[in-house]
Amino acid sequence: MTIELLTPVRFVGSRNCYDARPLGQRRGIMLHFDDSSNDTSAEEWFHDPACHVSYNRLYLDTGDVVQITPSLESAAWHAGVCVTPNANRVFYGLSAATDTRTPATTKQLEAIAHDCAALFLLNKWPATDVTVRIVGHEDEACFASGKLGRKIDPTGIHPDRPILSKVAVRHRVLELLGALE
Ligand SMILES: [Zn+2]
Repeated sequence: MTIELLTPVRFVGSRNCYDARPLGQRRGIMLHFDDSSNDTSAEEWFHDPACHVSYNRLYLDTGDVVQITPSLESAAWHAGVCVTPNANRVFYGLSAATDTRTPATTKQLEAIAHDCAALFLLNKWPATDVTVRIVGHEDEACFASGKLGRKIDPTGIHPDRPILSKVAVRHRVLELLGALE
């Protein structure tokens, strides 16, 4: 028994906003929300010449997955300046399509957790690593000075009312991986 990555409903593409990733294992998964007002504009943004970001995968309100980079092995331009050097390459970049006022739907959270669990198996990461391997953009994104606070996603402004709860994702990943035993 295994957990397969969800099949994307489409490939959106990101023009050339990604890098080929050099060999070497990923350390983990970085979660985001993209601050889009709706799913359509979320996808369209990646075709805008002004857009210089990408994710490996974007999760829509319905739980549908769209692939942004050609492959999960591509280094999406999702992290920017981070505490960890080369964070685009070190972390997969997964994003919920939502904004700072709209919590991720149950289906979005479930789809993200499902793919996280699949990536744990693919990378042979132990389930007990959920806290260190599933990180938020907010935990890593820093200013040039090294000071944190450059990003607020995926939690958002109110930690008691998270947009995408890292705790909930980790909990569900543990459930999914535990179900394999
Ligand atoms: Zn982000």
